[in-house]
Amino acid sequence: MALVREKDGKRLHVKSRLMGESLVSKSLMEGMELPPQERLFPSVNVIKIGGQSICDRGVKALPAIVKEITSLRNDHRMLLTAGGGTRSRHIYSIALELGMPTGVIAKFASAISEQNALLLATMLAPWDGIQIGHDDILKLPSYFAQGCIPVTHGMPPYDLFALPPEKGRLPIHRTDTGTLIMANLIGAKSCIFVKDEDGLFTDNPKTNSDVTFIAEIGAKELMKRDLQDLIIERCCLEILEHCEGIDKIRIINGLIEGNLTKALEGQAVGTVIYRE
Ligand code: ADP
Ligand code: MG
Repeated sequence: MALVREKDGKRLHVKSRLMGESLVSKSLMEGMELPPQERLFPSVNVIKIGGQSICDRGVKALPAIVKEITSLRNDHRMLLTAGGGTRSRHIYSIALELGMPTGVIAKFASAISEQNALLLATMLAPWDGIQIGHDDILKLPSYFAQGCIPVTHGMPPYDLFALPPEKGRLPIHRTDTGTLIMANLIGAKSCIFVKDEDGLFTDNPKTNSDVTFIAEIGAKELMKRDLQDLIIERCCLEILEHCEGIDKIRIINGLIEGNLTKALEGQAVGTVIYRE
């Protein structure tokens, strides 16, 4: 980049494409041609272990999924993230009743997803499971070189700066969103959500028996359908459409042994939501 001297000869500027831009101009955004986003860790699979759907089931779900993860560690690089679950919902209710702002509620949720990350990392400790923070993500190669299974919290670090939502006061960017953003950041091999249903249905199968399974769908199409309830945070669909580092996510049932193995091996299992 060239240095340019002001006409009076006193100050130097760095001449660049964005010099003097407001950074919000429509023509700037539309006219920007960029090289494709670098994929930092394209061999890493980002796997979210559901909070409510898996972690909260404790002994009924966790040992089996931990066993499957350990059986896969020699063949697949995995970065695990943890959801929040029922304890998040508990503190959400209390905080909402007390009139707390979104940012404080998001901070509570971060603390709880960190608890679940610790829970998972502890269960994985004999197989070199290790809890890491978000800033450690750029050190992934050294964790894998040492044979570790890194586990971090899924909640994105907006915390006190969590955006006020259109309706209500719950943070919209929670642990599904954090996991998706992380997978996109590193250009992951895959982004897998381990939950307690076979994937996406036309409505919540726990409250509606008249539902149809959706094996594959585009994110835009799913937004257009505007379903009553979803298995993934709604804003993930829009974010996926903007992702460059990944082009799809998969949601699988972690209560069925072998599903994670199938997902990591690229076999058809669960629901795939793809970027259109
Ligand atoms: P997590 O534990 O990862 O946070 P959630 O409990 O938030 O997962 O979301 C998973 C739950 O979403 C499922 O247990 C299911 O009951 C519910 N759900 C809501 N809508 C749907 C849908 N359209 N298809 C499938 N599951 C749905
Ligand atoms: Mg959830």
